[in-house]
Amino acid sequence: MISLTKKDIVRGLVSLGLESGDKVLMHSSFVALGKVEGGPNTVIDALLEVLGEDGLLVMPTFSAGSPFNRKNAPTGLGVIPDAFWRLPGVVRSLHPSHSVAAMGPGAEDLIRDHEKAPTAYGEGTPYCKLAMGGGKVLLLGVDQDRNTTLHAAEAAAGAPYLKNIEGAYIDDNGDEVKIPIAAMAGPHRDFIGLDKLFREKGIMRIGRIGRAACRLMDGEAMLLAAIEALQKDPAAVLCNNPACWDCVRQRGQIKAARLLDECFTLAAVAGDISEDWEDVHRAILGEGISALELTAEEYERWSSDLTDAGISISAIRGGLKGNAAAKLAESLGVPFIVPASCEEDMAAAAKLPGRVIVENTGACSAVYKEAYNRDGMPEFAFNPAQFAAVGEKPFLRVFYRGTLRKHTVHFYLDDGLFNGTPTLPGQGNGEVKEIISMLRCRGYNGAITLRARSGGTAGFREAALAFWYLLDNM
Ligand SMILES: [Zn+2]
Repeated sequence: MISLTKKDIVRGLVSLGLESGDKVLMHSSFVALGKVEGGPNTVIDALLEVLGEDGLLVMPTFSAGSPFNRKNAPTGLGVIPDAFWRLPGVVRSLHPSHSVAAMGPGAEDLIRDHEKAPTAYGEGTPYCKLAMGGGKVLLLGVDQDRNTTLHAAEAAAGAPYLKNIEGAYIDDNGDEVKIPIAAMAGPHRDFIGLDKLFREKGIMRIGRIGRAACRLMDGEAMLLAAIEALQKDPAAVLCNNPACWDCVRQRGQIKAARLLDECFTLAAVAGDISEDWEDVHRAILGEGISALELTAEEYERWSSDLTDAGISISAIRGGLKGNAAAKLAESLGVPFIVPASCEEDMAAAAKLPGRVIVENTGACSAVYKEAYNRDGMPEFAFNPAQFAAVGEKPFLRVFYRGTLRKHTVHFYLDDGLFNGTPTLPGQGNGEVKEIISMLRCRGYNGAITLRARSGGTAGFREAALAFWYLLDNM
């Protein structure tokens, strides 16, 4: 293969739309270009030639080591930026995690106080200043996943999955300075998914220099498009691969933030998901759920895991003979929930210690209404799928009409057909959408427990997806 010359690269940059006097931030891969005569400095020379005396060239120069020392810390972002920051006339910002190097008029202003900005790439940082000040972003042989400026969109949109960390740098007196860094992203992200949006909006030019696919974008248009996408969908820059634990967790954080606006507590039944704690933990975290219904046996097995993970217990589940389990629930200060299919079951449940709740199971509403004519009956857990399975309309005929509503303190988001076949929430005869809507109107502040009666972790994910669909569409 023939080596690229400076002239080739200049021609490529110009045809991509780079102009004299431009301010540009470049992310690059030197090897993507193929062979380059003269090495990385040829690429830098070509850029400086196109930009001219009035242009501003900027490259990120992150360093993995801590504390960060701008005078000698190499960057792991490739040989071009690592050659660039060492050149005479180039200035480098002090930020410990996301430093940049810059050359040209305005370089000093651009990098000034980077380390004093609250985030590494948001307002007050070179990334934001450049993008909002008429600058361009150039991706040379790399994709949108390398486009640091897009993190500014996440910070601006207040993405709930961002976290705070600490960083350290060596100042120009040689002293170590520790600083908090807010709104750090990652590890995984799906900025690649925004590429299509930028193409469709016509704010990006794509070309090729040597073998490298190159993209040039207007910084402000790019940032605004990304912010708009995040406002429409807070998960817009996360991937949707269920095997990607980073993004599953981050989506869960978005959902948990969404649940903070609701009065009710969303819970899950551990036994629906898995016998393995790791599986259960991951599954509920991915849905923003932090409350579980457990059997006494599961509690004994996982009590320290539950504490470590900060998961609360919404109820202990058991049977009518579960005296010990009921006592455990009492000691934990949570209700004990048992199935009841006749009046005798209700009476037996009433004799258990602590706070007991009966869940309708296999009987029609008349049975429970009848039982509530007697004094001292336990409270009621409303299961719509179980009413549908005995041919009743759970909302219109049972819940809406009174008696049981008065005694109901717990809800199962459990749906099914009149013939007893379980379904996803909102896809059976359980009228669960109507029930949730009514509960929300009344500011119901108890638990709504999502059931997923089949399919383990995958079944649970589907049921949760159906729940979120219902909630987002009412
Ligand atoms: Zn991911």
